[in-house]
Amino acid sequence: MANTIPAAVGMPVEEVDTPCLVVDLDAFERNVEKLGRYMKEHGLRHRAHAKTHKSSDIAMIQMERGGACGVCCQKVSEAEALVSAGIRDVLVSNQVVAPRKIERLAALATRARVLVCVDDIGNVDDLSAAAVKYGVTLECLVEIDVGAGRCGVAPGEPAVAIARRIADRPGLKFAGLQAYQGKAQHVREHGERRTLIQQAIDDTKRTVDLLKADGLSCDIVAGAGTGSFEMEGASGVYNELQCGSYVFMDADYQRVRDEGDKPISAFENSLFILTSVMSKAKKEVAICDAGLKAQSVDSGMPVVFGRSDVEYLKASDEHGVIADPGNVLRLNDRLRLIPGHCDPTVNVYDWLVGVRNGRVEALWPVTARGACL
Ligand code: PLP
Ligand code: MN
Repeated sequence: MANTIPAAVGMPVEEVDTPCLVVDLDAFERNVEKLGRYMKEHGLRHRAHAKTHKSSDIAMIQMERGGACGVCCQKVSEAEALVSAGIRDVLVSNQVVAPRKIERLAALATRARVLVCVDDIGNVDDLSAAAVKYGVTLECLVEIDVGAGRCGVAPGEPAVAIARRIADRPGLKFAGLQAYQGKAQHVREHGERRTLIQQAIDDTKRTVDLLKADGLSCDIVAGAGTGSFEMEGASGVYNELQCGSYVFMDADYQRVRDEGDKPISAFENSLFILTSVMSKAKKEVAICDAGLKAQSVDSGMPVVFGRSDVEYLKASDEHGVIADPGNVLRLNDRLRLIPGHCDPTVNVYDWLVGVRNGRVEALWPVTARGACL
């Protein structure tokens, strides 16, 4: 196997190998505590989305310091990795329909509280059979599409039909609704985001009320992300919020604005790609060692942190081209890049290097790196 360990605890940050992922622990902890305080003050649960960091260490900190009730995972294998590392309360915020995956999900419920989303009547029967076989309870959230255009049945009657089936089947518990408006999260303008989320809130409330009229109460009404959670949080409808990116932030989320053109909820960038200059053969350009394989550029190029004199222009497999109009960069100079999109960037690293006061304080494995089964 290749050597992918970039640092050791106690090392000065100047000696850390690059490219690697660095977590500014002060900023990271402030983000965790800020959201934890918000949830507590508003009587809400936070189920932290672990697809952002895929790290059992960070999940544990979100639960212990941030008061999170558990985590969301997007994949069964992500959930398996985190449960194996000690996390005991996991929602797979996704559909699990393939027979092998259903079997693994039921097996996982022998080791942890497991919840899952459902948007298909036949899937209810398959989940029930597996739960009975393993002697477990799978808690099911009916997923409604509140505008994301992804998974989920239409709000209202279709959701009630599935909820009724869940309640009637052995091995399953009807736990509530999954109502995540993913399309709204990165909408730049606050008012536009507000309109989209209000529609989601209205659709969700209507569905909760219909279920109630049918004798089905929702313990959990779940959804929301970093871009909108204060809206769902104030709705009186949602009670379990799933923010993930807040813990790291990224360049794209910094472009999403709150009222008064402020950054969303004042979360700070805590995740950086540490990169080094490896070629300065040209005057107005520097080449760094973080290219496409060191990050995801689906949401645009990374932004150089704390510098307005240089700019990351483009990436090829293992090269990053940096504009250096003032010819200020030198070989082995280091830059911190704010990734365009944090979640898929983390997925290409084995380690997160936690730094404070110029030293490596933590070395966390990306527990569920690459776990997409
Ligand atoms: N919940 C679900 C179901 C998601 O898919 C996501 C992210 O896409 C989130 C919550 C978290 O969103 P964010 O990273 O924007 O906080
Ligand atoms: Mn994302």
